[in-house]
Amino acid sequence: MASCIFCKILAKQAPAKIIYEDESCIAFQDINPQAPVHLLVIPRKHFASVEEAEMDDLPLLGHLYRVAAKLAQEYKITDGYRMVVNTGVGAGQSVFHFHLHLLGGRSFRWPPG
Ligand code: 5GP
Ligand code: ZN
Repeated sequence: MASCIFCKILAKQAPAKIIYEDESCIAFQDINPQAPVHLLVIPRKHFASVEEAEMDDLPLLGHLYRVAAKLAQEYKITDGYRMVVNTGVGAGQSVFHFHLHLLGGRSFRWPPG
């Protein structure tokens, strides 16, 4: 998608600190980190949100979570971390290319704000 910043990052047409890549996804550092570790794991396939995901995308969604869990180990945040998917403007979604936030390295409150 030409207008999508995450598609541009995937195409290496926009800069990002990419820390993981495989055939179906990449992970990079969030430009405005909300925790000492704040990574975004995104599919190479563009879809705006889980609402738009198709049945065929379910293994891909699961894969994103597995990659995030592996990164949590690598970044040594397994004592407590958040995987967050903001869905819709009301929940704070600002980039409409599905992404999984991985946050760690600090304590978190519940419920989230
Ligand atoms: P959302 O608000 O949609 O759940 O999350 C979007 C996230 O993408 C935000 O945390 C924001 O800081 C991050 N972000 C937006 N644009 C860029 C960018 O160009 N590069 C990087 N690395 N992160 C971005
Ligand atoms: Zn996109």
